[in-house]
Amino acid sequence: MGIFDKLSNLFAPKGDTYGYWVVVKCNQCGEIIKTRIDLRNDLSLRYDEQGKSTYYCRKVLVGDQHCFQKVELQLTFDVKRKLVDRQISGGEFVDEQE
Ligand SMILES: [Zn+2]
Repeated sequence: MGIFDKLSNLFAPKGDTYGYWVVVKCNQCGEIIKTRIDLRNDLSLRYDEQGKSTYYCRKVLVGDQHCFQKVELQLTFDVKRKLVDRQISGGEFVDEQE
């Protein structure tokens, strides 16, 4: 048993510095879909009206329970890669309790 406990600790999300996890619920079927945003690779740099730079990420999710509803996410992060704005269509955000 011991070795598997150690392995699962190694891959625990809390060690995932560059991963931002989003949990959404499909409006159509209620399926919970989890996705990982890679803060190094999935973000693109943008400039707002004030010339301030932000990171932007758009992602389209589809559940795998025979439902073809698309859930579209639009996330905005500041330069420190902290979430500052989020939009969703086709579903809703589910905030997990820590
Ligand atoms: Zn669905």
